[in-house]
Amino acid sequence: MDFRQLGLDPRVLRAVDDAGYTEPTPIQAGAIPVILSGKDLIGIAQTGTGKTAAFTLPLLTRLATEHSSPGHIRALILAPTRELVVQIHDNVRAYAQYLSLGVATVFGGVGEKPQIEALRRGADIIIATPGRLLDLMARRYGNFSGIQHLVLDEADRMLDMGFLPAIRDVVRQLPRRRQTLLVSATLSREIEAVTREFLQSPQSVEIGKRSNPAETVSQAVYEVPRHLKPALLQQLLRDPSLEMVLVFTRMKHGADRIARRLEQSGIRTATLHSNRSQNQRLRALAEFKDGAVRVLVATDIAARGIDVDGISHVVNFDFPPAPEDYVHRIGRTGRANAVGDAISLVSPDESDDLRTLERFIHRALPRKRLEGFDYSAPAPAPTPDSHRGPSHRGPRPQGRMSRDSGPGDRGPRPAGGGGRPGGGPARGGTFRPRRFR
Ligand code: AMP
Repeated sequence: MDFRQLGLDPRVLRAVDDAGYTEPTPIQAGAIPVILSGKDLIGIAQTGTGKTAAFTLPLLTRLATEHSSPGHIRALILAPTRELVVQIHDNVRAYAQYLSLGVATVFGGVGEKPQIEALRRGADIIIATPGRLLDLMARRYGNFSGIQHLVLDEADRMLDMGFLPAIRDVVRQLPRRRQTLLVSATLSREIEAVTREFLQSPQSVEIGKRSNPAETVSQAVYEVPRHLKPALLQQLLRDPSLEMVLVFTRMKHGADRIARRLEQSGIRTATLHSNRSQNQRLRALAEFKDGAVRVLVATDIAARGIDVDGISHVVNFDFPPAPEDYVHRIGRTGRANAVGDAISLVSPDESDDLRTLERFIHRALPRKRLEGFDYSAPAPAPTPDSHRGPSHRGPRPQGRMSRDSGPGDRGPRPAGGGGRPGGGPARGGTFRPRRFR
């Protein structure tokens, strides 16, 4: 199938050519004609399937041809995190480079003045996180009465993060006659309820099941006392094949501590968690993407929705209690590698979580031991630093939001059980995105 057969605007096609895409991904082939026809759409697809272009390309085509009144915002894209907003914005700008459309972003954690200005001027497209947008709408910034298109991207994550009330408040202020597109990695009962609430006679496009990354990614478990995890990580990183490493920790303090230790041993490391300012987080991501830092230490929530190509290894420094988080984390890598693309450091207090995961994915993970590592080294005498955080873990925090306060502008509400509602490994297409380095 060729992009030219889908009915996209020639200027959009030119941008697609520039991006180097030769053929549409399954979600693009399925969704683009539906969106161009003006119907509401439920797209079941996850990051990495080409979902952003699937809704952006037809949206731009429609905006390029539809009537517009000056000052009116015509399309609103809602996404769960600042990072995702920035990513969608980058995509939209690239695909819209031959069109004269105004695009602006709205998200928390940064000064609101430029965003207020953009809302006042009225961009054609606003890409926003729900919290900050609602805040600005409540203060009457922006004219939303001309909205023709609404996109709810990563709707399942927005629900997980407690954004439903904010989304409801935003949507209440939009015209009823509009096209609504909802993209989600899973079709849970909650998502179905949301589609009934916000969409009208939607068509669904669900791309073929992708094999569970827990089955295809090469994985390894290192059973190790908790106090030896930092030393083991440091030693594992002596292997140069661990080129671009995403390390997950449960708590933001843990992330900082690991990063400090790695930096001290000469390994360039950045951190990504909700205590860092927006600029610090964007800088950390950029440095990781362009190879200036080798290791990025992140909490689950801060790392959500982030699509970084070329990650060679994911390391679970803390083992995630929710199997869905494990599957989500290790889906970030994808190279066959001798030591395992996904490495989990599992201490005795986490062995129940490991067993839960193994039941969930219906297989046992291979156990490995690092040659020459002293697994019996005693715990060091406590230092003032070790009292501050939970590296010597106390009682497990309840609910996922206690792990990181989350990147939502208003602070998302606790999600309760910890796993994604309607759980299970996310489904997506068999498409593997191009790797841009
Ligand atoms: P997304 O699922 O939107 O996060 O996209 C994942 C990656 O796939 C991004 O780096 C896109 O630039 C890339 N991509 C999107 N559509 C195509 C396509 N048709 N061919 C090749 N790469 C694509």
